[in-house]
Amino acid sequence: MKFLILAFSLFVLLSCEQQKEKKTINDAKTIKQKLIDTATVETIESIQIVKKDTNQIITSTQNRPKRVIDSMDEYQSYIEKFPDHAMVNLSEYIPKISIDLRYAHYDNIFNTVLYTQEEVFLNIKAAEALKNIQQEIANDGYELVIWDAYRPYSVTVKMWNLIRDKRYAATPQKGSRHNRGMAVDITLKEINGEYLEMPTTFDDFSKKASPLYQNLPQNVKENRDYLISKMEKHGFKVLNSEWWHFDYQNWYSMPILDIPFEKMKGVESR
Ligand SMILES: [Zn+2]
Repeated sequence: MKFLILAFSLFVLLSCEQQKEKKTINDAKTIKQKLIDTATVETIESIQIVKKDTNQIITSTQNRPKRVIDSMDEYQSYIEKFPDHAMVNLSEYIPKISIDLRYAHYDNIFNTVLYTQEEVFLNIKAAEALKNIQQEIANDGYELVIWDAYRPYSVTVKMWNLIRDKRYAATPQKGSRHNRGMAVDITLKEINGEYLEMPTTFDDFSKKASPLYQNLPQNVKENRDYLISKMEKHGFKVLNSEWWHFDYQNWYSMPILDIPFEKMKGVESR
């Protein structure tokens, strides 16, 4: 009998140990899972921290292209030598041009206001071409709408710090064609009326943004191709990944500018 009691006690004890062990294993699994979860969170947080780390934030004087004109004196002496490279205020140069600056509002991929001004600046030759296009398309009942044009180099750096992805933003090393006042983001509307239906909205990075994308309603394709044909007839070239972005011919001959909008306004009033 004593032996039976002893055997039973031993069995109970062993079962308890097994249970404990099971619990320990389960706890270990939970902890491991937690560690994995935490590690994931930590990884994500560390990526965010890297992004927030001020050492990682590129300033507009770091890693910049060889030539950036960022003082008014330099700009003025440059323009004296190359008057065709002067910048003009599009709002004054093309009366009644429609302006819908998406980076001046929250309605853009960055979900942030990148600049607060509402006036638009562009190279004088590109502006002349746009003026001719505006006159020409008026015969068909349309007008141009500007989404973005000149952007100071420091705005491009700001964009890069927010997104850090070459697919969506120009790198600080290269700068953007917008910094040269030689690129424009543009769409069409009926004169005093509705926007024309286009394949996508501004800064849509789906395959539909390609100017060659074909799987679209006929009228949408016609609207897009109409815009592209008018722009290209007057010296602009559409970007192969964005139907709304156009570079003016010889854009590379114009240096990158980092003149703030307020100072650009000063140039215009002289
Ligand atoms: Zn653009």
